[in-house]
Amino acid sequence: MKDDCIFCKIATGKIPSATVYEDSHFRVILDINPATKGHCLIIPKEHFDNVYDLDGETAGKLFSLATCIARAMRDALGCEGMNIVQNNGEIAGQTVLHFHLHLIPRYEGDGLQLTWKPNEVGEEELEEIRKAIRKEI
Ligand code: 5GP
Ligand code: ZN
Repeated sequence: MKDDCIFCKIATGKIPSATVYEDSHFRVILDINPATKGHCLIIPKEHFDNVYDLDGETAGKLFSLATCIARAMRDALGCEGMNIVQNNGEIAGQTVLHFHLHLIPRYEGDGLQLTWKPNEVGEEELEEIRKAIRKEI
């Protein structure tokens, strides 16, 4: 629990939220400024700044829960698709420095844009990058 962290307070119930699910590890809430109708956030009760801090066991439980919540959202909301998004760092759009997973339902004509422009990359550069990442795993 980090004293100045809003999601620590929400996850542990110190600040009320529109909770759709809770267990001993996670709270799932409706986003206060939803990207689309039914936008949910899965928040671990323990404080992790971002994905780099998250331990494997929590990450496994989190994604298992995400599949369950995603199916429930699909059935309840009748969405036609879903984006699962997780931002790390300001440049990537992270505004709350407590790890959370976005589940964003998609509807025909919702106007939401979460796409990027595909870039060209040479074989040599691809291989250099592949090796650099592989070395660190
Ligand atoms: P990020 O930009 O860090 O990936 O996502 C933060 C998300 O948390 C945003 O979508 C924002 O609307 C949501 N959010 C921020 N403060 C609150 C809050 O107090 N309550 C709820 N329910 N959502 C919040
Ligand atoms: Zn926190």
